[in-house]
Amino acid sequence: MSCNSWTLCGLLLSGSALLFGCGDDKGGDNNSAPQTTQAGRDTSAISYVDYSTAMTFDHCSGGTSQYATNDFYVGTTGAVSSDTLIDIVKAAQLSFETLNGASYFNVNAATDLAIDSANRLEICIDPGEGSNGAGYKKGIIIGASLSGSNLDFILDHELTHVIATNILGKDLPSVLSERWFDEGLATLFADNVILTKSQMSSLINLNSGGILTPANVASKGAEDIWSYDGKNTSYYYPAYNTVLRYSMHLGASKSDFIQILFKMREIEQGCQTQQASFYSSTGGMHGSNSFSSMSNACNGLDTGYETTYNGSIINSNDVFQVAFDEVMSHNGSGLTMSQLRDNTYFVNNVVNGFLN
Ligand SMILES: [Zn+2]
Repeated sequence: MSCNSWTLCGLLLSGSALLFGCGDDKGGDNNSAPQTTQAGRDTSAISYVDYSTAMTFDHCSGGTSQYATNDFYVGTTGAVSSDTLIDIVKAAQLSFETLNGASYFNVNAATDLAIDSANRLEICIDPGEGSNGAGYKKGIIIGASLSGSNLDFILDHELTHVIATNILGKDLPSVLSERWFDEGLATLFADNVILTKSQMSSLINLNSGGILTPANVASKGAEDIWSYDGKNTSYYYPAYNTVLRYSMHLGASKSDFIQILFKMREIEQGCQTQQASFYSSTGGMHGSNSFSSMSNACNGLDTGYETTYNGSIINSNDVFQVAFDEVMSHNGSGLTMSQLRDNTYFVNNVVNGFLN
């Protein structure tokens, strides 16, 4: 488990080592719910039923669920009231439907994600997690103490990870995607906070004299550089969203970000198809069927097993950049990942040219 004293795990401040799944390789979230709770969305139109099935997450494994909506079932590790279970599963259903809608992912749960009443997502409510949450491909783990707008905020953030991960078709988004993009998207779709110019400057300038800009945070490990430097952790996710908002300022849309996810899936599936075909036609030239893993990207540089896109061979680490550049080339933004990762470009155009 990678949570340490420098890393705030879960959506608030408690450091549960099991709360990975959110955005990156066992990294956890360091997001903050709003301080005040307002009324949440009106879930009175969401129906639920009594529902008993085996729970599978670490925290809830071995237990049974109690209620279900169309796309979720819910159970708990502890003594959580029926009212709380029902409130959370209904709020999750409404968050999920909102996120799938045209203003956000614009996907069909059944046909695009293979999630429906026969293939529900799991909600494990663990009171020990307090106000924390984490998103996985097959559902979420969440504490029992959230309600109203704070509950909606956490659900919107974590379910963005869940939906994105299901589009990618991997156990974790980090298998194909990058941390800044995953957490930026979850922030864009949850509370849409960005940094001010002075906040961004204080975050990216390291005490060592170096600089770390948000689009260079491909993984949790890169983010830890800020933590070791004593940066304000509440700036991280708004910094990632700032990159997305800058992209939108230049002409990108939310739909483009979703297309990047689908483009990554297309590249991945193309690689798997090619590898399976080559494996078959050569009588199993490689010793293993690595192309079907849920926890690894399809990647091979050996003849016949290359990851290719548009006729060019790419490394699996570059799938995100290839997908980003491909989608951005069609929206008039003129933006590339190389630009966003370039420190001088970022300081001149985002910090000094975009932020206030
Ligand atoms: Zn997250």
